[in-house]
Amino acid sequence: MKTPARPPSSPNERQRHLTQFADLGLTASILEMLAAERYTMPTPIQAQAIPHVLAGRDLLGIAQTGTGKTAAFALPILHRLDAQRRPAPRRGCRVLVLAPTRELASQIDDAVRTYGRGIGVSSTVVFGGVGATPQIRKMANGVDVLVATPGRLLDHMQQGNIRLDGVEVIVLDEVDRMLDMGFILPVRRIVAAHPRTARRFCFLRPCRPIFESLPPTFWTTLWKWR
Ligand code: AMP
Repeated sequence: MKTPARPPSSPNERQRHLTQFADLGLTASILEMLAAERYTMPTPIQAQAIPHVLAGRDLLGIAQTGTGKTAAFALPILHRLDAQRRPAPRRGCRVLVLAPTRELASQIDDAVRTYGRGIGVSSTVVFGGVGATPQIRKMANGVDVLVATPGRLLDHMQQGNIRLDGVEVIVLDEVDRMLDMGFILPVRRIVAAHPRTARRFCFLRPCRPIFESLPPTFWTTLWKWR
């Protein structure tokens, strides 16, 4: 005999039953882009994270690359930029995404450009090991989404090329890897420079805890995803 499906009992369980992007509350232009990209179903992290982020909460996600975590933070960010249109501050950005390596930073920038197509969102990426001048030029008029590695971003901050006081959302992707790579000082300074009112999304790879490494105030407001 077949057991009838049990109705979902907890909020997390109910979210797992939301299997269509249309159920998540994203804007029409984002839904059109997802259909064009042939993204039919949200991955588990997307189904759980997107409604929480759209509800204005911070996010702490524990996820490997390949789980769809980039879209889990990029889609609600693009939703916000689409719904609350305003110019990016000069020499500033509305959204800052920190990533440990130039490869990951470039992938995130590519994803934001792809997902943001049709919304008119500007995105740029800055990392070390290449000339700073083109990066300064791209940031000069302000950019909606800035994706950066911590060391080069701190250099730009110290030289007055970028300021973070207009940041509305900060994302730390693979923050444990940033700390493993010795970026603790830049990460601390960058975290200290963004406004307290900004939404904070933080992703860790499933590995040892790093909760002691950042100021307690950074963690206390974060919604624990898992
Ligand atoms: P990520 O974990 O963010 O690196 O994503 C891994 C890959 O999955 C990327 O190539 C994404 O384009 C793809 N992807 C993310 N979300 C979805 C989805 N809901 N449906 C299909 N592909 C997806």
